[in-house]
Amino acid sequence: MSTFKELGLCAELLQAIEEQGYEHPMPVQEAVIPFLLNKEESADLVALAQTGTGKTAAYGLPILELMNISVEKDKALPKAVILSPTRELCIQISDDMEGFGKFLPNLTILPVYGGANIEPQIRALKAGVDIIVATPGRLVDLMKRGAADLSQIQYVVLDEADEMLSMGFQEELDAILEGVPEGHRTLLFSATMSQEIERIAQNYLKEKREIQVGSRNEGAEHVNHIYYMVHAKDKYLALKRVVDFYPRIYAIIFCRTRMETQEVADNLIRDGYNADALHGDLSQQQRDLTMQKFRKHRTQLLVATDVAARGLDVDDLTHVINYGMPDDVENYTHRSGRTGRAGKKGTSICIVNLREKSRIRQVEKVIQKQFEKGTLPEPREICSKQLYHVIDDIERVEVDEEEIAPFMDEVQKRWAWLDKDDLIKRVLSREFGRFLQYYANAPEIEAPSGSEKSGGKGSRRKDDHTPEEGYTRLFLNVGKIDKMYAREIMGLINTNVKGDKVEIGRIDLMKSFAFVEVKNEDADRVIKSMKHGVTIKGRSVVVDRSEPAPKGQGARGKRKASPGPSERGEKRSKEQGGRSKRKDAPSSTKKFEKADWMQFLHPEEGWARRRPKKK
Ligand code: AMP
Repeated sequence: MSTFKELGLCAELLQAIEEQGYEHPMPVQEAVIPFLLNKEESADLVALAQTGTGKTAAYGLPILELMNISVEKDKALPKAVILSPTRELCIQISDDMEGFGKFLPNLTILPVYGGANIEPQIRALKAGVDIIVATPGRLVDLMKRGAADLSQIQYVVLDEADEMLSMGFQEELDAILEGVPEGHRTLLFSATMSQEIERIAQNYLKEKREIQVGSRNEGAEHVNHIYYMVHAKDKYLALKRVVDFYPRIYAIIFCRTRMETQEVADNLIRDGYNADALHGDLSQQQRDLTMQKFRKHRTQLLVATDVAARGLDVDDLTHVINYGMPDDVENYTHRSGRTGRAGKKGTSICIVNLREKSRIRQVEKVIQKQFEKGTLPEPREICSKQLYHVIDDIERVEVDEEEIAPFMDEVQKRWAWLDKDDLIKRVLSREFGRFLQYYANAPEIEAPSGSEKSGGKGSRRKDDHTPEEGYTRLFLNVGKIDKMYAREIMGLINTNVKGDKVEIGRIDLMKSFAFVEVKNEDADRVIKSMKHGVTIKGRSVVVDRSEPAPKGQGARGKRKASPGPSERGEKRSKEQGGRSKRKDAPSSTKKFEKADWMQFLHPEEGWARRRPKKK
């Protein structure tokens, strides 16, 4: 293992690194720093590295080492521009760079991002900066206003390039990369290598070196991937089971939409969990506060959208929970890469319904790792786990004899009528009664009855894109070419359809059109509301029912008036050996009877059993 000194960094940077507490370079730093510092080398860089691998220092340290920091600030034009997808990441990179450059005199770093007043940013640019850390949209804005002069740029960094593209910053990246004169080096960092990334590299990078940390497109090495298959209606119950089974869980729960994120967080809080929501509908101040609380472990469960959680950097998550699979496979890589960091083990859990099964398979191909199919913990196991957690916590309490001494007499007197058994029962009931009560009456979670083999008897979904039971598949004449991705399509429907929120299921995105599944009862409302006057870039949006393609035709389904939902439901259940609830379907859980849990309150079975026998 090498040292930072051996990589060739100057004394000022080494001192700052020491203050950061970094002992040895991480693999991406070992690979990238010498490459960038090598004076013989002028090639651009494509580095495939997951989030949390230490890439900021990998590009940040050599840039600081090599760039000419302006002494006369009023004449300083930026020498390096670092682009990041979100405001949070932008601030974090800027903070990291400030930390690394702490002992370099005259260094000025400026974060610029959307959603904040542009005037102070313009003034700061005029005052002279060495490094701009920017979100693409805001930088383009500043370039158009003549405030950001990129004529002296020596380094362009694209951090989380895949994320910038998936957030729709394609045009902005083109504008920026075209606006930087020749003679600079471009450093592209991405967690995954998609065609779009290849295109950017092809168009804007000169001779380039590709560096991979870990194997290409591989999920984090130390992460286990587990999925639990449940009916869509049971997702929340399953989430509670999972969370309850890990009393010391510290996790991010990823949801697909802002609305779902808020709902799940609200439900968890209502049910007594230490949870919080993080999504784009919250003000920046609220988001900052939420992130701060989570970083300090004052919140145990953070329910978040992919975008809002981008700027959050925490190293010690025990779990990442995917409340449904993300629409974009790449997002899964980002999500799961947030656990299993810094050499620790992590677990990425997916709570999915049958129609998301194919996504699991897609992700397995990309990360080249297999998911384990999990069985939800039984109420009994959960209660045991929680019980031992309470016992452990009580055993670990440090008793400050002096502090409590003045109260002991009074307490002894008040509790004189309670014997040890009574006391234990009361402590346990108080500390984990919530679980006992809940699981004594907890709703059952039935395992979906469909066979797992695709197309096999009982399979819920075949390749003909039959919608999930209870859902209608709609055709939409907009697609990726219109920059309409899952998030945009959900937004389009929910802003144009009046009344209750439309529950949206699977979305299949094509180049110029898309299929969207909505609840049967919402289908007519969606079609009617969007019939007139909804346009995207001047083009009228058309929504219609789609029917499954005939057997053997495979793929996509076509746009046509289709039989009503009930008719289609009947047809399917005959064809597929009945998709409705099967009597013999294995239940993932057995009801947890009161008699079962009463024993937990008995000391012989609980506390006493675990105590080492005195010799
Ligand atoms: P990044 O991928 O740049 O966001 O870094 C992920 C985390 O690793 C951050 O918390 C960094 O502070 C930390 N880190 C970066 N380099 C090192 C290192 N050489 N040793 C220990 N921690 C590091």
